[in-house]
Amino acid sequence: MLPSPHIPLPLSSSSTRFLSGGQYVGIHASTFKDFLLKPELLRALVDCGFEHPSDVQQECIPQAVLGMDVIAQAKAGMGKTAVFVLATLHQLEPVDGEVSILVVCHTRELAYQIKGEYDRFAKYLPGVKSEVIFGGMPEKAHIELFANNCPHIVVATPGRMKALVAKGSVKLDKLKHFVLDECDSLLKELDMRRDLQAIFKATPVQKQVMMFSATISDEVKPICKKFCQDVSKQQASSTNLCPAVA
Ligand code: ADP
Repeated sequence: MLPSPHIPLPLSSSSTRFLSGGQYVGIHASTFKDFLLKPELLRALVDCGFEHPSDVQQECIPQAVLGMDVIAQAKAGMGKTAVFVLATLHQLEPVDGEVSILVVCHTRELAYQIKGEYDRFAKYLPGVKSEVIFGGMPEKAHIELFANNCPHIVVATPGRMKALVAKGSVKLDKLKHFVLDECDSLLKELDMRRDLQAIFKATPVQKQVMMFSATISDEVKPICKKFCQDVSKQQASSTNLCPAVA
């Protein structure tokens, strides 16, 4: 997805450090206000105690909110989840009956954590519906969910999502944002990679793709690039954005 040409980028730069106590401290730091996020998101950020963006947030949020593809590698705990949760919620215009955001991850525990972050940041965005989808529970319940109360945001593990897409129970033809969290774990397993490719094929060509991981192996890097159309353009405009594929 191409960025709209006239949206200004954040002006200030920051130097932020992640402290072991779980706080971010900024030296000449920018704030989340600089990202020009929806006021509802800024309110939720205050409630969550987020003041200064971490390095990965500082580097990726400006491009991510413009709809550009992102591949980001940063250590666990550096705030990668907030990058895609904030960027996708900022762009979301919920339409009933349509899945707009799909996040795929490799475990149900991680899926619930991600949904938790969507719930926290969507606190002041009424009507935004998110659901976790994973295998091991009756498929019928998922089929009914998508038929009767389709969520705008789906956080899923690959196997069940692929099965629902293959049956036509989930339509992804209106999808706007496709996110892989812990993409290294997802893409290095052949079964999961096949499931992801099948899911990806059901999505429109024009969409934002974002991938995040603490590690991205040499084997997985070219596969990540194949999923992202705009990544080379971003690399041309920002050398910091995609350290994993630089
Ligand atoms: P990662 O996805 O990189 O492993 P998380 O997104 O799970 O990291 O973030 C780790 C913790 O830090 C979470 O509890 C999250 O709410 C918190 N956190 C993330 N970014 C910030 C921030 N800018 N300020 C304060 N806390 C933050």
